[in-house]
Amino acid sequence: MKFPAEQNKYCPYCNTQTKQTIKLGGGKVSKASTKMRFGVRKRARKEKGYGAINVRGKAANTKKLARGYQLKLTCSVCKKSHMIKLAQGKRLKKKPELIK
Ligand SMILES: [Zn+2]
Repeated sequence: MKFPAEQNKYCPYCNTQTKQTIKLGGGKVSKASTKMRFGVRKRARKEKGYGAINVRGKAANTKKLARGYQLKLTCSVCKKSHMIKLAQGKRLKKKPELIK
């Protein structure tokens, strides 16, 4: 999904549509937290006694997109910003990008 970096959008503080700059926010999981996830720990426990042999083979290379991507909109008039959620509770089919 592609988004323009500047767009006319509704500003809840000005109560009208204003020109707003768009940034991507949210939707990222840090590496430290993925190592401690339940599934990762479970797999490590299973593989423990079998030397270097993997129990279920290699993990798939395709990476699932994170849930809950957000857009951060900053108003050019009042300089305040608010967030907009994309596809709430679903995964997006394509990673959101900004066009300049
Ligand atoms: Zn505003």
